[in-house]
Amino acid sequence: MTTEQYDTHTTEVAPGIIQIRLPLPFALDHINVYLIEDSDGWILVDTGLKSEQSQSILKTIFDSLPMEIPLKAVIATHAHVDHIGAAGWICETWKVPLWVTKAEYEGIQNFLGMDPKNDSVLADELNDFYHRGGIPETEYELIIRSLLGFQRAFHPLPEKYRCLEEGTFSINGETWHILINDGHTVAHASLFNQDKNILISGDQVLARISSNVSVRFGEYSGNPIKSWIKGLQRLKDLPANTLVLPAHEKSMTNLHERADQLIEGYLENAHKIIHFCLTPSTAEEILRALFPRELSPFEHHLAYGETMAYINYQIAESNIKKLGSESDIPLYVAA
Ligand SMILES: [Zn+2]
Repeated sequence: MTTEQYDTHTTEVAPGIIQIRLPLPFALDHINVYLIEDSDGWILVDTGLKSEQSQSILKTIFDSLPMEIPLKAVIATHAHVDHIGAAGWICETWKVPLWVTKAEYEGIQNFLGMDPKNDSVLADELNDFYHRGGIPETEYELIIRSLLGFQRAFHPLPEKYRCLEEGTFSINGETWHILINDGHTVAHASLFNQDKNILISGDQVLARISSNVSVRFGEYSGNPIKSWIKGLQRLKDLPANTLVLPAHEKSMTNLHERADQLIEGYLENAHKIIHFCLTPSTAEEILRALFPRELSPFEHHLAYGETMAYINYQIAESNIKKLGSESDIPLYVAA
């Protein structure tokens, strides 16, 4: 690879840490993945999608790495498609293990195996998850179809994986901490280098946008906002001058301030929900007030999960009550 090609996609963001910017075909048009240099090879954090363009960039970079064993392991911060989609291909091609938390691995394998066309119980559960929100059937059918469409953006994952857990490990004589938080996903890992004060944050802290925090299918009564805020507060225990290397957008050095801004933003939205519930409303009605714009089926899915997250947060705070409604679609009203 020429220096110019290498320069297009890679930046040495700290000694021994290379950021690779990979394309995504979404509104969010890129993901940052990272290579960490160890004494005997490189560790890749996150993978990008299963996509010809993204994989060919990775292959060119791996082929040019200055070491006998170019790649020694893949770590996925969490199991969203942009973070783990290409892991199966990388692990098979370079014969390297995948490290990921147990809950993320099991959750995504479960998603990849979903086949509601041949599983009527699952089909009913999926329909019911959206129906309870008051989303019309024609719309939730589109949502479910678009969601399952993402199955194609993953390479099949390796059948064996290594379990990423809270704790420390050493790379090149430096201590890294694995910090696992619930909220954006069920067991999202961020990596903190205590010798250099560097945080590879995944989607836990981003510089400008806020990560989606949603009630998940199968956890209808969950309170992910509460867990998410707890995770952000935990990051404030790290040094204030930590260099944050996120999975999207730019690096930052204002970790504490950004964590506070994010917490404030989620609480503001949670507060809006109370006003939308001055008259009894379905989740879909609240959603439309919170997101008053055209939504694609996938955006509708994200907006529903997020709306339910705010609703459940406010129910737990006793600011909203769930009313037994005539139908099987609950109404929510300010307490
Ligand atoms: Zn994510």
